[in-house]
Amino acid sequence: MYNHVKHPCVQHKLAIIRNQETGHKRFRELATEITQFLCYEALKNVETAEVKVQTPVAEATCHKIATDIVVIPILRAGVGMLDGILDLLPTARVGFVGLERDEETKQPISYYDKLPYQVKDGTCIIIDPMLATGGSTVAAIDLLKGEGATNIVVICIVTCPEGLAAVDAAHPDVTIYTAAVDDHLNERKYIVPGLGDAGDRLYGTSH
Ligand code: URA
Repeated sequence: MYNHVKHPCVQHKLAIIRNQETGHKRFRELATEITQFLCYEALKNVETAEVKVQTPVAEATCHKIATDIVVIPILRAGVGMLDGILDLLPTARVGFVGLERDEETKQPISYYDKLPYQVKDGTCIIIDPMLATGGSTVAAIDLLKGEGATNIVVICIVTCPEGLAAVDAAHPDVTIYTAAVDDHLNERKYIVPGLGDAGDRLYGTSH
């Protein structure tokens, strides 16, 4: 399942972040801003609890988020989306997942993970700017479910039909929030038209 966020504010920023002329400083800012819009959408139905608040005038009935939020960036590019979420949700916890390809099986395997125990009962938000083949996303969801997580959403900036299909086949209960569903993957598994290598563009490591 996926939710393509077509709001003009998101699409405007997407047009700028895709541009090859956009440098790494602006790229990072835009990744943060787009992520915040997507996160806002992804948490539309997050669990809340009613609280009474005394204003200077009277008592108001309010609603506060009533679940632990755990944000899980997939290393390395996912880290570029983290600050945006932590600005919105300053008390969120953070778990990290590092994945690499097993050269024998060609499947992603975890070389690093550090997850807070709150993944089990909280709301987990996996972040990775480019959901391409879906392999890393599926592996990260597998890992979280292995720790008992039942409430997982994925936020990416750009995806493609191949990636959406792979995640849906393995984890139909997980919703993906994205600013773009692009055309296809090329032979190097880059999203077309995409925005290039998100990690390189975030961190200024492209050649
Ligand atoms: N990872 C990227 O950074 N870009 C793509 O297009 C695909 C995977």
